[in-house]
Amino acid sequence: MVRPNWIEINLDSLSHNIQTVRDRIPPGTKILLPVKADAYGHGSLACSYAAKLCGVDFLGVAHMAEGILLRQYGIDIPVLILGPCIPEDFPYLVEFQLTPTLSDEKTATLFDDYLRKNNVTAKAHLKIDTGMNRYGIAAHHPETIQKLLRLSHLKFEGIFTHFATADIPNHPNTEKQAQAFQKLINALETAGLKPPIVHAANSAVTFTHPEIHFNLVRPGIALYGYNPMGNFPSAFPLKPLMKMKATVRMIHDVEAGESVSYGSFWTATKKTRVATVAIGYGDGYLRGNYNEGVMLVHGKLCPILGRVCMDATMLDVSEIPELAAGDTVDVINGEAHEQISMEAIAETHHTIPYEITCRVARRLYRKYRWQGKNYRWDALKKEFQIPEFKEYPCRK
Ligand SMILES: *Cc1c(COP(=O)(O)O)cnc(C)c1O
Repeated sequence: MVRPNWIEINLDSLSHNIQTVRDRIPPGTKILLPVKADAYGHGSLACSYAAKLCGVDFLGVAHMAEGILLRQYGIDIPVLILGPCIPEDFPYLVEFQLTPTLSDEKTATLFDDYLRKNNVTAKAHLKIDTGMNRYGIAAHHPETIQKLLRLSHLKFEGIFTHFATADIPNHPNTEKQAQAFQKLINALETAGLKPPIVHAANSAVTFTHPEIHFNLVRPGIALYGYNPMGNFPSAFPLKPLMKMKATVRMIHDVEAGESVSYGSFWTATKKTRVATVAIGYGDGYLRGNYNEGVMLVHGKLCPILGRVCMDATMLDVSEIPELAAGDTVDVINGEAHEQISMEAIAETHHTIPYEITCRVARRLYRKYRWQGKNYRWDALKKEFQIPEFKEYPCRK
């Protein structure tokens, strides 16, 4: 059966990118792979199992629900919940052995009380706000931070911060944040309170600021193979995991003076061969403006004509007389041509690769590549020995 469209996720590229990061960090430095938002749209189970086989130490999720889902599918390596937790989460954090991030004094104290009452302990990380002002305890409240690190049942194995501007070269706030964090860590060390794992580096920091790697790095976008500094071409030897492909559904000639697609934003100035391709914003391909962007057909770049529709996009294929319905089109494929890389498409749409990969619709069929072989999801599940979804007794 010819699928109308699909994405290909190359897990060998994930393995390559993990090695690329490993080559840049001192031996013994741990790696956390953020798999939040379904691994930035690449599939959190596929990426988590592949990452585990590649020796990644931690997985990172945004919320507890994402962590529980990994446990329900048998993931048994440490999972750090990067966002803040709330008291309603406490029983589940313990039951599913998920590592929470504590981001404020009140919740940390309540969690410690909860653990004491239940006569258990729990590992956790403490989030320090050094200037992003999203989550965390302000670095300039060291007394509060020290008090929390002394709690009896909440065992802080880690402490971390997050940078707001590391993807902008030489932004002064990166230096300010780094100094605030380093000063705090030094003070904690002196007080004998420094947790064993200290971390700060997202992808941009991992590649551009080796002096603030500490002993764990958390590169997301780079491990998925996109340039953390946004612009293309990348100075870093990363391989993109995702390709988006679609098929030609119909080919026809449009006469001079005729318009194509909603709003009639493109009008033929001469007789033009037009292919209608099965990809649209309903698949997560950004609609954007009109007459913007290209796709690769039989090795040639073909301009998009007019507006992207929900299920279809029209291309000028006048240069490809041999084209037939059913033929494959490269919609996103940075390895085939830089103009259809995630970075280039993001730039065209004034956004970032993260947003494009996160928005890929569920209706696209997914194919995987692992250790040089192609897999459908069912086969990959077998290869990785992913168990069936396990429903846990719910406490509510
Ligand atoms: C998502 C996330 C990262 C990864 O960021 P990238 O820019 O994708 O490298 C790192 N740390 C935290 C806390 C995050 O939430």
